Amino acid sequence: MEKIASFQIDHLALRSGIYLSRRDVRDGVAVTTFDLRITEPNREPAADIAALHTIEHLGATFLRGSKRGSEIVYFGPMGCRTGCYLLMFGELEPLDVFDLVKDMCDFILNFEGEIPGAKAEECGNFLEHNLPMAKYYIRIFKERLEKYRRMSYCTQPK
Ligand SMILES: [Zn+2]
Repeated sequence: MEKIASFQIDHLALRSGIYLSRRDVRDGVAVTTFDLRITEPNREPAADIAALHTIEHLGATFLRGSKRGSEIVYFGPMGCRTGCYLLMFGELEPLDVFDLVKDMCDFILNFEGEIPGAKAEECGNFLEHNLPMAKYYIRIFKERLEKYRRMSYCTQPK
């Protein structure tokens, strides 16, 4: 089988940032997939599972409740635990979601209290959450976003 495009990116060269992963169009409807790389693949430890789970709950809550909520297709963690996928309707560029992602970071950083959707009847693993560690990763991610504004893969797919 042929390697899918996202496996052809050089993961040794990947840094924290917002990257365009792919665009899919079907029946005239476009969906853009972004990779939000929170930790740096193969340079830093991958994110703690509980923290990533909390980022998923809080990020999805913020994004779907935001003024761009109707554009959101999906938000959730990568299997490699170095970040999250953000899928949105439309043919978008990373710059189109830069402020939205920064606002999501602020929402997580300022969040206090009960994590939404984290009761036993609402979540598949309700005990596995970690808000302080979610804030730890998001604080570093946001600082790097503002400082380096990395939004294009330095290595093109081969
Ligand atoms: Zn959950």
